[in-house]
Amino acid sequence: MNLYEPQRLHALKQLNLLNTAPGESFDRITRMASQLFGLPIAAVSLTDTDRQWFKSRVGVDHWEIPRFKACCGEVADTSGNLVIPDLLASPYYRDSNLAQSGIRFYAGAPLTTRDGFTLGAMCVLGTEPRTVTDQEMTLLQDLAAMVMDQIELQHAYGRIDALTGLPNRSQMNDDIQDMSRQLGLRPAYIMFSELVDVTSMGSLQRVMGPAYFEELCRSASRLLSEHNPEGARLYHIGPGQFAHLAFADNDTQMLLLASTLRGLLQTLTTGEAVAVMVRPVVGVAPLASEGYPASDIVRIAHSACLDARLNEHGVALYSSKLDADHQRHFQILLDFRIALEQAGQLSLEYQPRVSGASGLAIGAEALIRWRHPTWGNVPPDEFIPVIEQTQLAKPLTAWVMRSAVAQAGVWHKQGKALCISINISAANLSEFDLANRLLQMMAEQGLPVSAIELELTESALINDSALASKQLTILMEAGIRVVIDDFGTGYSSLAYLQEIPAQVVKIDRSFIQRIALEKRSRTLVKAMIGMAQDLGYEVVAEGVEDSQTWAFLKNLGCDQVQGYLVPRPLTVDHFEQWLDTELPVK
Ligand code: C2E
Ligand code: CA
Ligand code: CA
Repeated sequence: MNLYEPQRLHALKQLNLLNTAPGESFDRITRMASQLFGLPIAAVSLTDTDRQWFKSRVGVDHWEIPRFKACCGEVADTSGNLVIPDLLASPYYRDSNLAQSGIRFYAGAPLTTRDGFTLGAMCVLGTEPRTVTDQEMTLLQDLAAMVMDQIELQHAYGRIDALTGLPNRSQMNDDIQDMSRQLGLRPAYIMFSELVDVTSMGSLQRVMGPAYFEELCRSASRLLSEHNPEGARLYHIGPGQFAHLAFADNDTQMLLLASTLRGLLQTLTTGEAVAVMVRPVVGVAPLASEGYPASDIVRIAHSACLDARLNEHGVALYSSKLDADHQRHFQILLDFRIALEQAGQLSLEYQPRVSGASGLAIGAEALIRWRHPTWGNVPPDEFIPVIEQTQLAKPLTAWVMRSAVAQAGVWHKQGKALCISINISAANLSEFDLANRLLQMMAEQGLPVSAIELELTESALINDSALASKQLTILMEAGIRVVIDDFGTGYSSLAYLQEIPAQVVKIDRSFIQRIALEKRSRTLVKAMIGMAQDLGYEVVAEGVEDSQTWAFLKNLGCDQVQGYLVPRPLTVDHFEQWLDTELPVK
């Protein structure tokens, strides 16, 4: 067996031809061969590990013969034409099965793939010795070429994208498998280009019609084919999604190529017009990505593509860190859904808010805690931003509101006049019934409106959607106070303050924590407190960690303080102990 044999067998197996049903397209060629040569037997014979298997045959009854001393096997080994005028006169074939069964003449032409692997032979056989002319041999070679065309055509079926004529995703998957088996010195990459953001895809189709999108894909395919980087293979792998398997010396070179490609796609036109809503991005992943199986390579290239949407260049290289982040986010979403339904994972802690002047308790901020069954405590800063981007923001806030209002009800009944503040995400303001649900819950607990406050960030409050203002209006009319949380970190200027529908300003802890360190922050905080109070707001300072800071704030007349000094967020039991021991209830 020569070195080429394993690769040859692999190529044969890849074509999925062995043991398939006969087909008229092959039989037609075989009949033609038999007639043109005036011989009783003709076959398309494929050379498997140890047998000759006939994809098509005339004049023989069986489907296979042993490979040992079969003439077609020699054609597969040598990849050349073979003519044996008389088997009985050949020292090698004289005692072969073929000769024993009465065959005297053999002529075969190799069936060779584009990549140069000979799968077997197109052959004619006779029971009398015979010679062949050059013309007949050319004819046999032509028939072999026709067989190969047929084989490759059949193989291509289901591997070519009908819209663009480019190889499709299944072809690419096979090619990735092949390439990752024989990665050379030069790094190979997959470049994943996406024409349109998935979120705008729906509107694009609706506004412009499906024909427009198809035309867009076709012109992108033409453009990319015309400018195909050297040695790269191009595929159309999904609606508006193209991929290249390409080589480069290093990541930087590949990213430059990706950037060029994106520039090219930005010039995309359909018909006469400049393409609308097209925002091409390109994600790049190395084919040998830290031991990922080939099936994962496409996923991570697409994940790079999504990262590319988020940066200004529209091009990104796969990074395992970003990928891990996405996976973690995804897991958080899956698991938080369960946490909402199962008792015991979620709880609230209460961080006291006290009077800046007297230190007496005024209320507390309800802060969510998540104890994940395997990860342990997940910090809210990690999961809240993920949840807030999704539909889960609604049940999250509903859960917090229910628990906090119920707890406030308990304390109210015990005669403790506390104001509990609840954090609300921007997304919650678009819930049409948010305000009324809260008022309903409070009524059920017999709570006065002063018992609950809502904390919202500046950006959430400046949201000018009609739905959001409706909710805020209902709350304000009912007398529920709204706190501008993280004040100073948003993009609004101080001048905007008077337009925000709120009564309390909570200065972000980043300013408060720098009070002890720099004069500039002291000046800033002083100005914030002065101005907010002049405009009629109550001011809370959060993140107070040391007594000098508190003293400074007290001096400025800051209404309330909150921070680790006051103390840290506490469980219900500890909060009640703190109330009883540290300070008298007001
Ligand atoms: P936030 O609304 O700014 O909440 C205050 C955060 O500052 C809390 O972090 C609190 O523990 C922390 N903190 C309080 N005093 C100090 C201090 O003196 N020093 C320092 N370094 N930190 C202090 P936590 O509980 O980890 O919450 C983080 C963020 O997660 C919150 O920031 C809020 O944006 C969000 N979050 C927490 N609970 C909820 C909730 O129930 N709903 C919503 N939508 N978001 C929540
Ligand atoms: Ca808050
Ligand atoms: Ca805050």
